[in-house]
Amino acid sequence: MVDLQTQYLQIKADIDSGIQEVIDSAAFVKGKKVTDFAAHLQSYTGAKHVIPVGNGTDALQIALMALGLQRGDEVITPTFTFIATAEVVALLGLTPVVVDVDWDTMNMDTDAVRRAITPKTKAIVPVHLFGQCADMEPLLQIARENNLYVVEDACQAIGARYTFRNGHTAQAGTMGEIGCTSFFPSKNLGCYGDGGALFTNDDALADRIRAIANHGMVVRYHHDMVGVNSRLDTIQAVVLDAKLPHLDKYTAARQTAAAFYDNAFSDNADLLVPFRAPYSTHVFHQYTLRLSGRVAPLRSNIQARLAEKGIPTMVYYPVPLHLQKAYKDPRYRAGDFPVAERLAGCVLSLPMHTCLDGEQLAYITGNLLQTIELCKG
Ligand SMILES: *Cc1c(COP(=O)(O)O)cnc(C)c1O
Repeated sequence: MVDLQTQYLQIKADIDSGIQEVIDSAAFVKGKKVTDFAAHLQSYTGAKHVIPVGNGTDALQIALMALGLQRGDEVITPTFTFIATAEVVALLGLTPVVVDVDWDTMNMDTDAVRRAITPKTKAIVPVHLFGQCADMEPLLQIARENNLYVVEDACQAIGARYTFRNGHTAQAGTMGEIGCTSFFPSKNLGCYGDGGALFTNDDALADRIRAIANHGMVVRYHHDMVGVNSRLDTIQAVVLDAKLPHLDKYTAARQTAAAFYDNAFSDNADLLVPFRAPYSTHVFHQYTLRLSGRVAPLRSNIQARLAEKGIPTMVYYPVPLHLQKAYKDPRYRAGDFPVAERLAGCVLSLPMHTCLDGEQLAYITGNLLQTIELCKG
């Protein structure tokens, strides 16, 4: 699905010398490289504050802690996402309220959010799934009208740009009170282990986030609030700082691969290519097809045949949150979120990374089209 080795070889000299410097200096934690990288990511994203942490899940948890949410407060998330989005809500004793997604964008359905608001609702967590921004302008409007916080889960969408109706644009993760991203190796900006960051434009929130990520400590060994220990290793900051200058080039490579896929599949009645929302660029963390009703039941068969030809495929995500065992809730049952349930049954993600060449793309598309015909026959 990803090829991190080829990408590494292109920037090997920078990474190797940077990592060696960290080892020589022994500044493994809180080294200068961490603040350097945060400053560079700050100018790249336009966020006023970038606070590096241990991973994207921590970023989401710290965001909800920094907003001072209380046990029982409701947080609205899409039901079609990676589990981390709702996991942190549950871990903090908050109540996850899930909503359905839009069939085209696979992102949070704005009208469903409006209907899910109760007097206990405190925050909305839109997920910019697969690398395309959720429709933020109406979500921010709903949040303003109802006095809610917006925490963006931008773990899959670093570098995606949202365009507001007035023409103003902003990067994924910089529009809500807080944005969260992940530097997991396979993410669009990935390190060689775990990493993540929070974005905010609010000075007071930035201070709280920094303190919470560091054991709730403001003055050394004086703890003003309950915190966690979550930080980006200096070695990971070196990797990220070496990759950041290439991020736009990496994104362009993903978009070129996506255009190749689109071109191969767009007139096939059994494959629905990813929708491009007019208000957002798509940075293609994943290239996710929707299979037609006739072919969707053959999905695992198609995957197995492709695997035999050396072509990996993945189903992101096979089970929506409201049908996960750990998140069983008497309020929800099968059929409640029909779009998410239908997507779970028909999505198929193809290999997507920054080093796909024409030959590989032709091999993947040719085999997928052939396999579908074979399985149908
Ligand atoms: C990857 C991801 C996370 C979690 O990031 P980690 O760094 O793996 O903790 C959260 N939400 C979404 C949508 C993700 O894709």
